[in-house]
Amino acid sequence: MDVAAIPGVPDWLPEHLQGEGIEELYPPQAEAVEAGVTEGRNLVASVPTASGKTLVAELAMLSAVAGDGTDASGATEGATDGKALYIVPLRALASEKAEEFEQFEQDGVSVGVATGNYESDGEWLADQDIIVATSEKVDSLVRNDAPWIDDLACVVADEVHLVDDGERGPTLEVTLAKLRQLNPDLQTVALSATIGNADELADWLGAELVDSDWRPIELQKGVHYGQALHLEDGSQQRLEVQSGENETAAIVRDTLADDGSTLVFVNSRRNAEAAARRLASTTDDFLTDAERERLAEIAAEIRDVSDTETSDDLADAVAKGAAFHHAGCASEHRSLVEEAFRDRLLKVVSATPTLAAGVNTPSRRVVVRDWRRYDGAAGGMKPLSVLEVHQMMGRAGRPGLDPYGEAVLIASSHDELDELFERYVWAEPEPVESKLAAEPALRTHLLATVASGFAASRTGLLEFLERTLHATQNADRSQLEGVTDRMLDYLERNGFLQRGAQSAPDGSSGEDSDPRGGDQLQATNLGHTVSRLYLDPMSAAEIVDGLEHGGGGTAETTEAADEASEPGFTRASDLVEDEDGADGGPPTALGLYHLVARTPDMYELYLRSGDEEEYTAMAYEREDELLGRTPHEREERFDDWLSALKTARLLEDWASEVEEDEITERYGVGPGDIRGKVETAQWLLGAAESLAGELGLDCTPAIREARTRVEHGVRAELVDLAGVRGVGRKRARRLYDAGIRTRADLREADKSVVLGALRGREKTAENVLENAGRQDPSMEDIEPAEVDGVEEPVANGGDGADEDEEDQSSLGDF
Ligand code: ADP
Repeated sequence: MDVAAIPGVPDWLPEHLQGEGIEELYPPQAEAVEAGVTEGRNLVASVPTASGKTLVAELAMLSAVAGDGTDASGATEGATDGKALYIVPLRALASEKAEEFEQFEQDGVSVGVATGNYESDGEWLADQDIIVATSEKVDSLVRNDAPWIDDLACVVADEVHLVDDGERGPTLEVTLAKLRQLNPDLQTVALSATIGNADELADWLGAELVDSDWRPIELQKGVHYGQALHLEDGSQQRLEVQSGENETAAIVRDTLADDGSTLVFVNSRRNAEAAARRLASTTDDFLTDAERERLAEIAAEIRDVSDTETSDDLADAVAKGAAFHHAGCASEHRSLVEEAFRDRLLKVVSATPTLAAGVNTPSRRVVVRDWRRYDGAAGGMKPLSVLEVHQMMGRAGRPGLDPYGEAVLIASSHDELDELFERYVWAEPEPVESKLAAEPALRTHLLATVASGFAASRTGLLEFLERTLHATQNADRSQLEGVTDRMLDYLERNGFLQRGAQSAPDGSSGEDSDPRGGDQLQATNLGHTVSRLYLDPMSAAEIVDGLEHGGGGTAETTEAADEASEPGFTRASDLVEDEDGADGGPPTALGLYHLVARTPDMYELYLRSGDEEEYTAMAYEREDELLGRTPHEREERFDDWLSALKTARLLEDWASEVEEDEITERYGVGPGDIRGKVETAQWLLGAAESLAGELGLDCTPAIREARTRVEHGVRAELVDLAGVRGVGRKRARRLYDAGIRTRADLREADKSVVLGALRGREKTAENVLENAGRQDPSMEDIEPAEVDGVEEPVANGGDGADEDEEDQSSLGDF
């Protein structure tokens, strides 16, 4: 189909697409148009990776946004002027997608990314035509009544097969159901990888289905074994593994000999780093001088991002044409690597599967080196799903650049060769199944559904759940009803919901209403707060309980310890003996970090060997600071308690100005992990502050201090200074040590001292003074004073390329 022949789209679009080199629609895109995607029809497109799903979404969104009469066939249903929402599965993808859509800004279409904290109401988004957000963000905006949600004409769910994901799938499922209930005319477009049961997704969404295997570039799957590549068409190519070389290196070398690049998928961060290090010696031999020069520049940029071993390791590999890519890297690292790979400067990237999730990095060959991954729940290695492996494989072949793509697994025996063909090469992807009927998902979503007015009774809730994929897929409702009832009990018991009609929604337990009476459900004030804060109710219960009952309870003093075996139904307050140390003053930062670290909203750090002993000792040493009852070593939840303690100490280290690279080493984590933990802690402590306010507890100042400290990574005395933009933890410390202790001091202080403490950087000093509100921030003719503990000021007082960025940026900016 010629792009000029697409009905329902704005007049300017055909020319715009032609300008991008798109003359003809790909066959699945044409099918989508024929199915009415530009005329307001719902659509599920199940199409292979890199086959142009994004354009299908763009066609739908632009026709919805610009449906203001420009459309000649004005009679088409649903094509009304409105907003479009594009839901991405990962936060990291939101800005990448928005950048893609920004190409339409020249045509008057505005694009915004909904980021920021969960609780922000996003009113500014009301002016954007296209909004990009994660499903969690959309869920939160719905809970907080973002006004523009009612104006939506079109919603696109990217990677909708992820409804199958146990952790995040239910949010996407429930969010789509809510958006569709709010606005029955909403056009829903769902984009999926190729799956076996796309028809069920279409059923659920009342959508037309485009189910296609078409790819713009040929893909051959295969398995390397011995000295040959065995391909699915039955052919074999010689691919020799030289002595001292492993299979992956041999494949990378073979691809490079043909001027192609390789993407290698492995199963852990450590493996990704190790592979990049090894493969760098292969790619190094193939670089031209010009490439080497540009790679050196990129390596320098990478070193500038953060001051850690990960950063150095990455830069070392990049200088030789190889890189790793995983969630422990900072986002700046990841984008530098992605860009250099797309520019063909990097010849190989070894990645964990996060890269397969949507990031556009096609390459000539893909190697799925590890097809098993450690699974904590299974306690061992588990094979990856066919869907995951096929998505990784789908990254092979760059349209217009490569003649074809090849995606290979590696076998170490003849039996394994056969197994891999059966298991992955010839296999169909698993069906996608709703994971909604799980307890954590339901307790969260049931509360939110009631609190934000989508249902006011048990019957109403069950009716709402009829709109979900779970209902489409399961004729038998007993499982869902069973879990629903148990979770309603839980929510009621913890004071988030009230049953029975007409009692005041004030959290008082409504003694005059029959607790079992009536079908009515009402969120308490506390329940409303929890829902708006986007907390898992179990996290909220843990936080409330910890704050109400202070520190220091020990297992030994508690007879009821063994009853704690049913988590979520037993609150620590039921167990702790009140006279035991409950009022030991305000909570400490460590106590608060531990409290939020043990909630299900903070994923914990794993305990490594030796950790158990260390943190057990610490748990006893600092028991008085920990909020709530410390479980007995025999109790199952003791391990979680220790993991949370490890996370808490990491946060405490960060908030005590321990160097970033020391933290990464001490806890065996990457810089991205520190940022992740810090951000989550900030959010949870903010939520704790609101909960404490709601409950009238007097620990709010302590919580606020702990939160600000972790936000800036500083001790308490630096909080004020570090809050000045451009200051950050290291500069704050140097200013403080030079006698400048507050923001107000910055407005009055001797400029030469400020300049000295900032190592003679004039621009920086001026910025800092300006941000602190100083009248005349100019540093002209100021000589830096000598300041104790600060090395040589920079000779020229310049602000050039050698700017001492260190890790000044607050990690929260990430
Ligand atoms: P998917 O979302 O399915 O993984 P993308 O939408 O990212 O794939 O498309 C992959 C590439 O194909 C993009 O670079 C896009 O510009 C290009 N593309 C999409 N549709 C067409 C088309 N009809 N003609 C030419 N190139 C196209």
